[in-house]
Amino acid sequence: MRRPLVAGNWKMHGTRASVAELINGLRQQVLPADVEIAVFPCSLHIAEVFGGLVGTGVTVGAQDCAVDPEQGALTGEVAASQLQDVGCALVLVGHSERRLLLGETDAEVVRKFAAVQSCGLTPLLCVGETLAQREAGKTLDVVGAQLASVVEALGIEAFIRAVVAYEPVWAIGSGLTASPEQAQQVHAAIRAQLAAQSAEVACAVRILYGGSVKAANAAELFGMPDIDGGLVGGASLNADEFGAICRAAGS
Ligand code: PEP
Repeated sequence: MRRPLVAGNWKMHGTRASVAELINGLRQQVLPADVEIAVFPCSLHIAEVFGGLVGTGVTVGAQDCAVDPEQGALTGEVAASQLQDVGCALVLVGHSERRLLLGETDAEVVRKFAAVQSCGLTPLLCVGETLAQREAGKTLDVVGAQLASVVEALGIEAFIRAVVAYEPVWAIGSGLTASPEQAQQVHAAIRAQLAAQSAEVACAVRILYGGSVKAANAAELFGMPDIDGGLVGGASLNADEFGAICRAAGS
């Protein structure tokens, strides 16, 4: 049985004041015990969020890391070992905003995934197609290739301690959501691709859906057999909305 995970990606949002307010709002939520909950603030706020959420059971993650796991001479980057030091448990890798807007390649995503695991943290690998790719009927090819680049480089065992998020690019921040059936089709394909190498790993790995998840559509999405929770952007900046999404993932 896979424990659902709801992860809030705060992206490049927040000031010290608004982050303190969000922490306070989250502390007031009744959060379901059978759901793992994580938030991903920008690196500047990680330590503050980690301290502010102590005792709530909410895990703190980072939105990215350097390709090299250890600290060193690399101006502006943050190493996975440094994230581990401040209390991070999870790290997003391969978010579409980084792939498409910052030119992050599959090879870099693989190195980041490996760096995260080498520091004892869990990578949350994001995959997803653009609208043009979906309209060209290429969704499963694109998502399959993004997943394959990690499996081929690091082996199926790398997914024993990893999470996958399917995030159609056209649904991110757009207000458009994949229908539960559209999302389930891709989630089932991701699980089948992993099952071709190890049925056991595929059965255990959590696959989250991301793309305009909100309280109003979460339960329907999370009710699909291969959707194990959500990666939530915009709606995670509102504690009440995020709390409701977390509760929708509970039993
Ligand atoms: C995201 O950025 O991962 C995301 C899913 O954003 P939103 O929920 O705002 O679409």
